[in-house]
Amino acid sequence: MMAVPASASPLQHDRFMTRSRRIASSLRDLRNAASQLPDAVVLLDQEQHVRWFNHAAEDLLGLRRPKDRGVLLQQRLATSDLSDWLRDGTAEPLNDVAAPGHPDSQINVSMLPFGRRQQLLLARDISHLNRLEQVRRDFVANVSHELRTPLTVIHGYLELIDPEDVPELAPVLGEMRAQSKRMGQIVEDLLALSRLETQHQIVDERVPMAPLLATVRKEAEALSQGRHQITLESTAEADLLGSPKDLHSALSNLVSNAVRYTPTGGSIVIRWQRTPDGAVYSVSDTGFGIPASHLARLTERFYRVSSSRSRDSGGTGLGLSIVKHVLNLHQAQLRVESTPGAGSTFACHFGHARVLVPGGRDEG
Ligand code: ADP
Repeated sequence: MMAVPASASPLQHDRFMTRSRRIASSLRDLRNAASQLPDAVVLLDQEQHVRWFNHAAEDLLGLRRPKDRGVLLQQRLATSDLSDWLRDGTAEPLNDVAAPGHPDSQINVSMLPFGRRQQLLLARDISHLNRLEQVRRDFVANVSHELRTPLTVIHGYLELIDPEDVPELAPVLGEMRAQSKRMGQIVEDLLALSRLETQHQIVDERVPMAPLLATVRKEAEALSQGRHQITLESTAEADLLGSPKDLHSALSNLVSNAVRYTPTGGSIVIRWQRTPDGAVYSVSDTGFGIPASHLARLTERFYRVSSSRSRDSGGTGLGLSIVKHVLNLHQAQLRVESTPGAGSTFACHFGHARVLVPGGRDEG
């Protein structure tokens, strides 16, 4: 508590004492409130010595009172997933790591600068959210799986009916076939997404780019049916390291979108180029383009700028979600630039670790 100045009158003395009692009581309240927070809070000094922590920090981080007061946090958590992050002092939060005090729980951790060169470490238990997310993923995967067989049967029977035998039903039959095919495609895309979501690593293979680019271009030409001018500019002379099937799916999804969202007469350029950071695969079109307000949400499932345009063009609304997941698995990034009415460029940026160049470190 603060000292009363010697020159203070009795009245000033009383006021001073009342004020400092009030401040002390507020401080106690604040500390009590912080100790009851469900998130772990650790107050650290400039060198990351532990100055104070709450109950949740005991539970989630395994800190103990009083012996852990004053210890270096990085040393104390040296064997945990937090160790490297604490050592590097990165400003970026650390997401989804095992809680040192509770290995079955997952936490998100962040560090905030606080007061005079002090830091506040915050850790939040996200196990519950992860479980809910798992339930959602399982549900979508199970529903898709269950729908697959009945759809195959319906589609099979529809194919058996010859429209010439029932000419009056021919238009209806055509529509039924198209819709059952679309449903089948949605189910297959949902299953592909479920697989990609649960997969945390891929088996790396060399993916030769020349044949893959040639295939992607042929697919674009087949889909376009001569309605667009399609060009391939491949200057990278490099292959990729990753999953051939998934990369094919991502790269051809972007080309298929370019064809579907570019009116007849437009042009599409597929590029594969080296960059200072690795290599980039991009697809540019002179199509409808996308207003800037939609760009951030494009890779969400079933997000469409225009539902009718997507459906008319045979889209499932899942293509860019698949692209995003495939790129995540390859530590690559999707960047989109678009001008409404003028066209779009979808670019996949691959880092050096994924790019195999002739005579490079990984060749041979
Ligand atoms: P969809 O099956 O609907 O094409 P996607 O996930 O592939 O689903 O794309 C999401 C939405 O992004 C599309 O519905 C469309 O509105 C927009 N989009 C994607 N690619 C392009 C493009 N090249 N030009 C204009 N809009 C595009």
